[in-house]
Amino acid sequence: METVVCSLLTVDLNDYCYRVCSRCERVLPGDKNGVFSSSSSLCKFCKSKQPKLLYRILMSIATDTSVKTVVCFDRAATVLFGCSADDLFHFTKLNPLAASMVNEVLDGEMFRMTLNRPQNRNAQHMRVTSLVPLRSGFQPAIVTLTHLCTKNASRSTTNHSL
Ligand SMILES: [Zn+2]
Repeated sequence: METVVCSLLTVDLNDYCYRVCSRCERVLPGDKNGVFSSSSSLCKFCKSKQPKLLYRILMSIATDTSVKTVVCFDRAATVLFGCSADDLFHFTKLNPLAASMVNEVLDGEMFRMTLNRPQNRNAQHMRVTSLVPLRSGFQPAIVTLTHLCTKNASRSTTNHSL
């Protein structure tokens, strides 16, 4: 385990979440490329039909000595985004530009991260087990995105009325 101070370079939002059963949290199939077919939302183990999304995000970070790719799971990613993966999924559905804004919003933010070697030897990346924003005015991504998207929406409404 190591703790690093780093700046965030990029977040890969092409594949940022996976789907689990909301009751037993077992991973459900069919979570490729953000396409979730309703037929596979039945949990084979506990028969629940209530899936939920959890974060699993690849991000590259720069420490004072190196640049590396790390993987960030639900608890740490929720600090970064300020909302659940389900909420972010719905937000980006309503605001298609939001996903492309995430990197602008988070670019260069400084964090103190605790990194752990993966338990699975085949896993390539260190996992982020905790993430603490270092900038005093840090706002989670969803706060800034909501602000930007609301501003854009009200601007276009104003233009229409002119
Ligand atoms: Zn289940």
